[in-house]
Order: sequence, then C-alpha cells, then structure tokens
Amino acid sequence: MFIDFERATDLPFAPDICVVGAGIAGLTLVSALRQTGLKVLVLEGGGLTHEPRSQSLFESEMDFAGAVNEGVGNGRFRVFGGSGTRWSGKCVPLAAHELSAGSTIDGVGWPIEISILASYYDQLEAMLGLKGSPFDARCDQVARRTTQMLAADCDAFSVRFEKWLPLPRRDIGRFLHQSLNDDLDVVVLYHANAVELVCGDRRDAVTGVRARSYTGRERIFAARHFVIAAGAIESVRLLLVSHSLHPDGMGGRWKLLGCGFNDHVMLHTAGVVATDAWPRLRRLARGFYIGNVLHTPRFELSQQSKVEEGCLSGYASIYFQAEPESAIVKLRTLLEDYRACGARALSRDSYATLLRGTPDLVADFLVRKTLGLQPIPSRSRAEVHLVAEQPSRSSARIRIAEGYDAVGMPRLALAWQIGDAELRTLTVVGRRLEALLRRSRIGAVTWFDEAFDPKEGARLDRVVDTYHHAGGARMSALARDGVVDADCRVHDMQNLYLASAAVFPSGGSTNPTFTIMALALRLAEHLQRTTLYVEGIGSYNRSL
Ligand SMILES: Cc1cc2nc3c(=O)[nH]c(=O)nc-3n(C[C@H](O)[C@H](O)[C@H](O)COP(=O)(O)OP(=O)(O)OC[C@H]3O[C@@H](n4cnc5c(N)ncnc54)[C@H](O)[C@@H]3O)c2cc1C
Repeated sequence: MFIDFERATDLPFAPDICVVGAGIAGLTLVSALRQTGLKVLVLEGGGLTHEPRSQSLFESEMDFAGAVNEGVGNGRFRVFGGSGTRWSGKCVPLAAHELSAGSTIDGVGWPIEISILASYYDQLEAMLGLKGSPFDARCDQVARRTTQMLAADCDAFSVRFEKWLPLPRRDIGRFLHQSLNDDLDVVVLYHANAVELVCGDRRDAVTGVRARSYTGRERIFAARHFVIAAGAIESVRLLLVSHSLHPDGMGGRWKLLGCGFNDHVMLHTAGVVATDAWPRLRRLARGFYIGNVLHTPRFELSQQSKVEEGCLSGYASIYFQAEPESAIVKLRTLLEDYRACGARALSRDSYATLLRGTPDLVADFLVRKTLGLQPIPSRSRAEVHLVAEQPSRSSARIRIAEGYDAVGMPRLALAWQIGDAELRTLTVVGRRLEALLRRSRIGAVTWFDEAFDPKEGARLDRVVDTYHHAGGARMSALARDGVVDADCRVHDMQNLYLASAAVFPSGGSTNPTFTIMALALRLAEHLQRTTLYVEGIGSYNRSL
C-alpha cells in the first residue's frame, strides 16, 4: 500500500526490512521479497509523480571538482520508480573479463565469480520477459548474419546484442504500482527522505532510519534489516552522513567510502559512416526483434585488443539517426514526454507532424511486424557512438561539502575526471572500428572533426558522461579492501545492506542496470534464506 509521509498517521505494521529508495534496485528487491511473509517498508524521497521540489534536491546539492558530470543533475530522478522512469531499458550482462581487477583502484576485483551473477541474470530474463536467448550471435539468424559479415580475420571486436526492455515493462514503478498498492505486507512511504542511519547503543547494527518530509515532518523508522537502494551517489551519501560510529561514515573505517566513483564516457556521434555500402552497413548494424524485444549489436573490444593496446573496456554502436523533423522522431519524443509529463505532453503540433508522417510510420510498423527488423527511416544517417569504461580512481570521490539541502541533508562534493585511459580507449575503439569497416567492405568512417581527430584521436572536450553512476562503496572479500562484503552487507554491520551500482568494484563498459537488478535479486534471496526465512510461508513470486 502507498502512504504519503506528509499526511501519514501510523504504519500498519512493524517492518522486518526497511528499504531506502524505490528505484529499479529497491523495487526489484521488494518484488522478490513479496509473498515471503516478510513485512517491508519502503522509504521513497520523491512523490508518486515528478515534483520540482524533489528533483531540486538532485540539481543543487553538488559541488564539482574536476569535470562536471551532467548526469548528476539531469540523469537522476527523485520520484517513485527513480531513474527507471526515464531509462532506455538496454539490458546487457557483465562479461567475465569485466569482473577482473584490471581497472580498479588498487587491483582488487569482484569477490564473486561471473557464474554466480549468471544464475541471477537468467532469473531476470525470465522475470522481464527477455526470452532467455543468448546475448551473442547464437541468439538469432539475423545476429549470425551480422557477425558473418565481419572480416574473417577480425578479432578486434566481439559482437554482443543489447536487449531493450519493451516500453510497457520499462518503468518498474508504474508496472508494479497496482500490485504494491494491493499488498498488505508492503508499505511504500513516499515524500520520506532518509537523512541518517541511527544506531542507538549498538556498534554493529542499525536500529533505525531517520526520515524527513519536505514540510519538516521527521520520524525514525525501526526494522530488523536495512537496505540502502537510493542510487549510487545517494546511497554513498547516506552512509557518509551517518557518522555516529565512525567520523568517515558508516562503512568508512578503511577510508574507501566515497572513493572510486565512476561512470561510462561517450563520444556522441563520433563519426559518420559513408553511405557507399549502405545496404551492407544496414545489414551489419540494424537491430532485430525476438518477440517484442529489440536486439541491437554492439562492437566490443575483444580481450585480445585490450591486452594488445593496454586499454580499458570499450565498444562502438552504429545508430541510424532519422531527421529531427521526421515522424518517427516526433513519435519517440512524444512517448518520452508522455512518460515524463503525462497527457500534457500531447500538443497539436505533434499531432499534425504525426498525421503527415503516417505513411512512413505504417511502413516502419510493417517492417517490424512482418520482417522482425528494426525500422530504419528512409532519410536517416548512420552515426557511430564510442563508449569507454572509466577506471575507478581513488581521486574520483564523493564526499560531504559545506551547507545543507532543503531537507537538511549535508550537500555533496564530487571530484570526477575524464583521464588519458578513457581517451585512449575511445581512440582505440574508433580506430579499430574504422579498420574493421574498411576490411569488411562495409564503408568508411568520416570522423566529425570536432569529436575525433584521425591522428590525435578522441577529443576531451567532446566526451560526455552517460548517467551510469557507479562505485563509492565497493564490494570486497576483506573489510580493509572495500565497504560491503560479497553479500552486499556493509562490513562490520550486522543488518545493513546496499542494493546499488555503488558496490561495483568495476563495471567494464556494460550498462549497469541489469547487474544492479541481478544483485538485488541475489540480496533478496540472501535476506530471506540466511536470516529471515519464515518457515512454511510461500516461496518467491518470480514474476514482475
Ligand atoms: C536517460 C537515461 C537512460 C538510461 N538508460 C540506461 C540503459 O539503457 N541501460 C542501463 O543499464 N542503464 C541506463 N540508465 C541508468 C539507470 O537508469 C540506472 O542505472 C538505474 O536507474 C539505477 O537504479 P537505482 O535503483 O540504483 O537508482 P535510482 O533509479 O536512481 O533510484 C533511487 C531511488 O532512491 C530514491 N532516493 C534517493 N535518495 C533518497 C533518500 N535519501 N531517501 C529516500 N529515497 C531516496 C530516489 O528518489 C529513487 O527513487 C539510464 C539512465 C538515464 C537517466
């Protein structure tokens, strides 16, 4: 059920588990805990729809040192559903080599094997309706054709296929809203901003979370276990400001809390592929549907290329960009605006463009339905996007700054940089892609001067962040090497867990959310199995 903290009187039960944050991570966890008999309280700082007062907490709370990470303000959403209300829904698992220690602060990698994550990826695919087809060329005959087109001697890249969660299932908050509303064992308390973890007399356990509303209402919520699922940056922030046990925050004993913040970096439209071999290019880069799930290829630097070039993980994608005034772009924008603002987004102007473009839209629809292929609008151009991993540097750090935000939480400072390692990786991906397309007789890349100089490589001032915030509370086998253990439990604390990309020791160049969800499922199982399983009360409800 949903309760507004600004109007609430009392909770209907004493919770077993308190989850801070109703974004993708928190809601995946809650979904897996439903029907276990456990009472779950979710504290969500935002409202049920986007509100300027909640969003302003993200926009103004940060001081930057080094480069400005735009996504800290534009790429986080403080609302029920979190950034899941806006994400693109691309799901990809981490590759085995991305779990290694190569790009971490001090050579300490993931304390769990890829095989452990793999079983949760499988569960997730079933839950999300992603059909369980492999992410590589074995998934479909179109995919096999794609890879066969590449020059036989090309081992610069390995091709994987991103699965796009269909729109109706993308916003997990909206998807789960009704069933959570009907669930008597789950309370979602919204407008409830967690501002501190409280320990009472305990030195090894959290006893409550202090929450505050925008109207100044305050209360401490007790539970047996606490899971912080407030997004990477806010999760770290909550630990940092909770310094009753340690001056560097909860989990800060080994001075690693806040360290190793990272994102992925990207060169937008880094190049244009000349259209002399347009049909071959379309065959190579075009997405296809399996059921209603769009699959699009990404050209990932192979492990061999990474070793040869001494660079990080990276990949290239080729997108077919329609003209901004085309019907398909208008339709896409309209759907996105509708997701953000509801029916207010539907202006007369948009209807007129859509009407004019109806023949194109019908043709696109038929391509999709009859051939199972991603429609490529008639007047479109192919653009290359290059993406690189960031190493988790100890100097890239989230820490407490001076001053307070509107709910009285200390402001944050973020030291973030884009360094030579990322620039070099982007350059290697770009050059190797260029060579591959030439050798495979697919086309030539005409680099946009301002983004990529064929001699110098990627240009720093054109590189942007990607809203994939991670790190700051990494997972480690030994307490001295990180902030949480392999079960995502804060070292030294009995009952405090993180469900967030904050725990990633490294993330390669893979989109993070599929792994965030896999870890949340694993955490739900851990909470139920090891400490909270109530004998005789149902097993997991595995469908979202
Ligand atoms: C435009 C866009 C496109 C994206 N596309 C992709 C993609 O295709 N693939 C991919 O893998 N990733 C993508 N991402 C990233 C993805 O959205 C995030 O990785 C994911 O949402 C993180 O989930 P989360 O639950 O950890 O955090 P969030 O979604 O940020 O959820 C955190 C929740 O906690 C709440 N909260 C925060 N602080 C507090 C507090 N103190 N008290 C109470 N509640 C609090 C917030 O309101 C929010 O509801 C995209 C992001 C954006 C913005």
